[in-house]
Amino acid sequence: MILPSKFQDETEKSDKPSPPLDVSVAFPQATPASVFPPSVSDYYRFDDLLSPEEKTLRMKVREFMEKEVAPIMAEYWEKAEFPFQILPKLADLGIAGFNTEGYGSPGLSITTSAIANAEIARVDASCSTFLLVHSVGMLTIASCGSEEQKQKYLPSLAQLKTIACWALTEPEYGSDASAVNTTARKVEGGWIIDGQKRWIGNSTFADVLVIFARNTTTNQINGYIVKKNSPGLKATKIANKIGVRIVQNGDILLKNVFVPDEDRLPGLNSFLDTNKVLAVSRVMVAWQPIGISMGVYDMCLRYLKERKQFGAPLAAFQLNQQKLSLMLGNIQAMTLVGWRLCKLYDKGKMTPGHASLGKSWITLRARETVALGRELLGGNGILADFHVAKAFCDMEPIYTYEGTYDINSLVTGREITGFASFKAPGMSKQSRL
Ligand SMILES: Cc1cc2nc3c(=O)[nH]c(=O)nc-3n(C[C@H](O)[C@H](O)[C@H](O)COP(=O)(O)OP(=O)(O)OC[C@H]3O[C@@H](n4cnc5c(N)ncnc54)[C@H](O)[C@@H]3O)c2cc1C
Repeated sequence: MILPSKFQDETEKSDKPSPPLDVSVAFPQATPASVFPPSVSDYYRFDDLLSPEEKTLRMKVREFMEKEVAPIMAEYWEKAEFPFQILPKLADLGIAGFNTEGYGSPGLSITTSAIANAEIARVDASCSTFLLVHSVGMLTIASCGSEEQKQKYLPSLAQLKTIACWALTEPEYGSDASAVNTTARKVEGGWIIDGQKRWIGNSTFADVLVIFARNTTTNQINGYIVKKNSPGLKATKIANKIGVRIVQNGDILLKNVFVPDEDRLPGLNSFLDTNKVLAVSRVMVAWQPIGISMGVYDMCLRYLKERKQFGAPLAAFQLNQQKLSLMLGNIQAMTLVGWRLCKLYDKGKMTPGHASLGKSWITLRARETVALGRELLGGNGILADFHVAKAFCDMEPIYTYEGTYDINSLVTGREITGFASFKAPGMSKQSRL
């Protein structure tokens, strides 16, 4: 290629472009998120509602995330790679599996689990998604598995020595999750699984894959434990995501995969059995946006105090204060809804509609909160180095997974009206073709 002479001169001076300036050198007016800001969003003293044990765990998780994850998260998010080096220290927190009980699992209360999860999401939503998917896999084995399966799989999963994933969604069936097309055919000594799964978190490296497939004899959905490297199993990373980029979401192909009888989950005999797990995971997912909003608020408050325009800190301007107040109000309200959800769950009074309203409403408010935060940081609001842009993008998949905003609204709608409106009116089988 012939370059114009001006550019030729430049390339001759040096054959390598200079590396980008470190953001703290390039922009010294504000501290980047690798040094995470103090937690300052607990305006209504939610902490007062927590037990000493809950407070201690909260601080332990917060310290781990700020010290070990905050300094590296922007780099790994940008590379869309998983930082495997954090696993031993993450395992030391003793929270993998969250409220899963027994067999080395932590058996935390749902409140403690939710608070720990929010603390992780405050610093990095991908890290929280990774642990959540893993824990949902554990919970499924604990609640639907045989004694032998629990003994065999749970202890090493609890120590993060092995990793799990949870595979329900398929390319053709997302919101319409119960329509599962993947099949499980009974053969001598086991099952043959055929089909495809999409979006499955951790699946590219998971040791234990919990797969949902339709039993061709009963036509019901069953659960199977498929092991890494099983012949016929292939998981390929989905590239070019705009959110939770650290999470390795995969497309899974299952071609003639043999699963021995001892790896079929005996307690998972229909789609209704997934509700045992989905109730918990919906509450846990509802706490991710709370944590994300907390981190964004913390970052914004520090940034606005540090950065000056028109001769004053940005924090001194009325419009910016109004946005901060709105964000802080959202966080107080989201936290109290999330808290109440945990308490209803504890008392066995949480309905599917409650969980869905919590998840949908909290994600809506969090989406507003992170969008305000993105605005407040100006140009740096689109840089992962200042956290808010990353959190803004991470909110998008969370708004969509574990049931989209719409689907969760419809679950609540069905409960409060008595009418299910998932299916479009007037769509006969024939007109669908
Ligand atoms: C980052 C990420 C991680 C994920 N991790 C996992 C995982 O680990 N395991 C797993 O099994 N799945 C996972 N999922 C899948 C996730 O649960 C689905 O993406 C989600 O359920 C939505 O399905 P879909 O993407 O096919 O959207 P669709 O179902 O195609 O929906 C598209 C749009 O149509 C709307 N819509 C659909 N049906 C209706 C209706 N009846 N009425 C009104 N509106 C409707 C939806 O709300 C949405 O806005 C993940 C997804 C993402 C993005």
